[in-house]
Amino acid sequence: MLSRAILRTTRVAHKRAFSSVDFSYEKPFPLPNAPETPWRKLPGSEKYVSTINVEGREMLKVDSDAISALTKEGMTDIAHLLRPAHLEQLANILKDDEASDNDKFVALELLKNANIAAGKILPGCQDTGTAIVMGKRGRSVITTGASDEEAISKGVYDTYTERNLRYSQVAARNMFEEGNTGCNLPAQIDLYSEEGDEYKFMFMAKGGGSANKTFLFQQTKALLNEKSLTEFAIEKIKTIGTSACPPYHLCFVVGGLSAEQCLKTVKLGSAKYLDGLPTSGSQGGRAFRDLEWEQKILKITQDMGIGAQFGGKYFCHDIRVIRLPRHGASCPVGLGVSCSADRQVWGKINKDGVFLEQLEEEPSKYLPEVTDKDESLSEEVVKVDLNKPMADIRKELSEYPIATRLSLTGTIIVARDIAHAKILERLEAGEEVRGI
Ligand code: SF4
Repeated sequence: MLSRAILRTTRVAHKRAFSSVDFSYEKPFPLPNAPETPWRKLPGSEKYVSTINVEGREMLKVDSDAISALTKEGMTDIAHLLRPAHLEQLANILKDDEASDNDKFVALELLKNANIAAGKILPGCQDTGTAIVMGKRGRSVITTGASDEEAISKGVYDTYTERNLRYSQVAARNMFEEGNTGCNLPAQIDLYSEEGDEYKFMFMAKGGGSANKTFLFQQTKALLNEKSLTEFAIEKIKTIGTSACPPYHLCFVVGGLSAEQCLKTVKLGSAKYLDGLPTSGSQGGRAFRDLEWEQKILKITQDMGIGAQFGGKYFCHDIRVIRLPRHGASCPVGLGVSCSADRQVWGKINKDGVFLEQLEEEPSKYLPEVTDKDESLSEEVVKVDLNKPMADIRKELSEYPIATRLSLTGTIIVARDIAHAKILERLEAGEEVRGI
């Protein structure tokens, strides 16, 4: 009797251990709604590509010089140009009656800056960023010459060493000693394989301030209700603050099969790479955009009053909310932004040559007509002479509320992270640091 009972229990357990779901592969990040990309061909780039027949199958043969050339062109473009949609969003702030004067001031300055950068002499931002390149090589593509990673690195090297772009990367010699690599390498390079006969790329330059505003929160199922998620979003989005130069393209990701998948999705989402995702979930666990929550969080950011740096409505241009599958016992939530240096561009290589997404070469069309109203806006600026003693400057500044716009004239000494560390080191060693 006992052995029959054990047998029955074993059979039940055995039956429960196996799924009744049939195998069916579902792409984790399908992009059925991907918007059309405007392309421009790199002149003469057909010389880099040819087709060969391998066991009856046509394969695209790509010289690695094509990858270097595309990388160089892509990284150069994003240092100087922006997408039309981003510029349009800035121009729309100027037309919005609900935007604060400070929102409009920031938007106008960013548009002016975009016009200077489009001359391709000076970059759009002094922090010319870490080069991040993602490639997806079709299974019918073979490359010759240098390895793909080396070819991409060469393109990044050429861009940064031949133009007025800052080198931001520091290499560790040991745990505490570092030195600038002098060419902005290494780049972050992520290569994947997929179906197809094209080699697709995403080029991005991510500034330190913007990258620092990427956050991971390890949550639980308890977060997944309207009230908790709303409170969580308000609290965490506020902590981003304005140091990463808003207005932002903000991405909020709920779920993920791992912490790194969650954060990778944040980065791609903020770059608009995942705009073509479906807008509903599935049995198989595909990623999807939640459009309702995108609107809800956009409204939250508008009501926060932080605005585009000094109070107002435009903390964010737009929001992406992406929902991912997750392990039942964990719920990573990621948050990040693409800043006012909204630098990313798509590239592709196929049998017709090498192509790059067309960014806006003529941003002047987004500038407003100059009117008397603009003159009156400039009169609201408080002029501050920095050559006066610091005590006088502080007294003067204390007369104005936060969010007052200032025009500073005089000598400014600026020092960032490395200088801060040096100053602290000297102070802790009991040495005098002049001016502090
Ligand atoms: S946050 Fe963006 S715009 Fe601001 S300094 Fe960094 S890269 Fe430049």
